[in-house]
Amino acid sequence: MQGAEFAVTTHDRSVITVRGPISSASLGVTDAHDHLFLRTPALPGQEFDDLERSTAEVRAARSTGISTVVEVTPIGCGRRPDLMRALSEATGVNIVAASGYHRDAHYAPGSWVMDASVDLLAERILADLQDGMHPNDWLDPDWPLDPARAGVIKAGASYQRISDRERDRLVAGARASRRTGAPLLVHTEVGTCAHEIVDLLQGEGVPQNRVILAHLDRNPDLELHADLAARGVTLEYDTPGRIKYRPDSELLDLIEAMVAAGHLDRLLLGLDLGRRDYLHAYGGGPGMTYLMATFVPRLRGRIGEAAADAILSGNPARAFAWSPTEGQVA
Ligand SMILES: [Zn+2]
Repeated sequence: MQGAEFAVTTHDRSVITVRGPISSASLGVTDAHDHLFLRTPALPGQEFDDLERSTAEVRAARSTGISTVVEVTPIGCGRRPDLMRALSEATGVNIVAASGYHRDAHYAPGSWVMDASVDLLAERILADLQDGMHPNDWLDPDWPLDPARAGVIKAGASYQRISDRERDRLVAGARASRRTGAPLLVHTEVGTCAHEIVDLLQGEGVPQNRVILAHLDRNPDLELHADLAARGVTLEYDTPGRIKYRPDSELLDLIEAMVAAGHLDRLLLGLDLGRRDYLHAYGGGPGMTYLMATFVPRLRGRIGEAAADAILSGNPARAFAWSPTEGQVA
């Protein structure tokens, strides 16, 4: 079965965008982790949900060369499938939306997400992936689904620990990934618990090449990252321009060292602009143009054109394409 899976080429696989499936080869330059509409109790005053402003932000990013944005706002955090579709149609930029759930801090006490069984959690993810996304954050079966399907499953863990509820949500995400072949992108808090997350997902039968670990560059530990890459998971870095954490030069050092260690094909880049203060259209910065206009020219200088293109286009095409499931291969 493994052999049969490898026989399928990247070009045969689809990435699911809010406007439907596209060939992974047509993804182009991809911001592998960002946010267009967001509202969470963890970031009061930082919500953004203005279609016009978010469209302007993405249009500006497109002018720098971005052709796909992976929008990883999960269930219950202000996700807006209707607005993502409108934005994608207006800008021509592909939007890959997320199902799944965040870490505990993003749900208010009493949220249905905190009380739901693994079965219900998984059922909601499968509906998003296969039928279309629920148009709001409530558990109301009477609302018609938005036609936009989710293309990636989100999960998350806390700082230094995976809570029992986070564990349930990881298991639900794993189930949905096994059933559909959809990739699973997991939020790590300051890069912690990475091996534990991979262990858990491996135990649930998720192939390593379906797993993307987000925010690892918040803990830029080369040996740790090389170990994780050697396990076959994908590492997503998303702090370009986040000067409050560290200068870009240190992120460039990390990427250069990972490439030198032979892990080029395991790296993705995004911006993770998850606060209105980070977006030009809402009066902040670095803004969605930062990746291509400011960071990538320096990246090309460090690792060369071809390696930079792999991180921006080739790797996302593999990481976000849905795998054939066991049933489809057999
Ligand atoms: Zn994020």
